Amino acid sequence: MSEPPAASSAPQLRDLLSSLPSYQPGRPAGQRPVGAGRGSYKLSSNENPFPPLPGVLAATSRALDELNRYPDMASSRLVAALAERLQVPADHLALGTGSVAVLAQVLAVACDPGDEVVFAWRSFEAYPILTRLAGARALAVPLAAGGRHDLSAMAAAVSARTRVVLVCTPNNPTGPAVHAEELAAFLDRVPTRVVVVLDEAYTEFVRDPGAADALAVYRNHPNVVVLRTFSKAYGLAGLRIGYAVADAPVAEALRKAALPFGVSITAQAAAVASLGEQTALDARVEALVDERTRVVSAVRAQGHDVPDAQGNFWWLSLGTRTAEFAAACESAGVSVRPFGQEGVRVTIGEHEANERVVQVAASFAPVR
Ligand SMILES: *Cc1c(COP(=O)(O)O)cnc(C)c1O
Repeated sequence: MSEPPAASSAPQLRDLLSSLPSYQPGRPAGQRPVGAGRGSYKLSSNENPFPPLPGVLAATSRALDELNRYPDMASSRLVAALAERLQVPADHLALGTGSVAVLAQVLAVACDPGDEVVFAWRSFEAYPILTRLAGARALAVPLAAGGRHDLSAMAAAVSARTRVVLVCTPNNPTGPAVHAEELAAFLDRVPTRVVVVLDEAYTEFVRDPGAADALAVYRNHPNVVVLRTFSKAYGLAGLRIGYAVADAPVAEALRKAALPFGVSITAQAAAVASLGEQTALDARVEALVDERTRVVSAVRAQGHDVPDAQGNFWWLSLGTRTAEFAAACESAGVSVRPFGQEGVRVTIGEHEANERVVQVAASFAPVR
């Protein structure tokens, strides 16, 4: 038997790994016994409670006949369908295995070591992780009142080293969408050499009439990258597919940085089929938006201060009682997403699940 290798010969990995947080997936639904009305629910990952849109499972299964082949690397059918739907040139599109992967592609093509990436905080937890993995420095700008982006402070945070600004609209986890005028003023202040990402993962759920229209903004700003996903409204989170819309040079760079053949044949087929089901999609989104309105009104009526909720989720600031609230939801058979000692994010899911969280909220004193 040879000696185990000395510690000094362990594979050398990057120093940053020791301080890099791991992405925390939402807890799965608990293991409560399923009895009459006592099932368990998962409201911790902003997933869609509906099954795939009509025809999507069949189209996805048919794609499996080609399982021995690599996927179409250009995703031609999907790109053509998206270009038609969004009224953008096909060469302004870049796909990836979820819009999180497309974001990693943005950072890979924009950042050299030591460059800076500016984003709001708290926002999407993948931002600091992907930024640091790309070798860049994360500059987190605190949210303003009401869980809103402070775009003026974000513009002020842009320096000569800034390569990318990430704008999450609506903001995960707090909920408000960025407004058209504030975004226009922000883009006027940010140098056009800086890439501005508008992360619109929840765009289908937005009902705020003042919200910015990222696609309209991209048409006048060659430095703007719009990120969209099939994971949320379309309910295809398990298949991993998202995309960017950007001016041709940026989109081409993003395609270069994509993992070869990353977007699977099943993901491509499901996305194409889903795009053909606009009416059914609209109905589901509307049902979730109605449910959001109902839940947020109920929780506000209890005295809680819920920020404007424009995604398929809502936010409750709970400070030091955050973990206690999450545990109470767990006892009621619902997993929600706690963030440290800040608050919880609750997905709009099945009616019964939403109701249980509303009931838990009723027993908590409002935190202001
Ligand atoms: C869910 C989410 C995404 C996209 O996730 P994918 O499943 O990788 O497409 C992107 N941005 C935000 C803010 C999200 O919440």
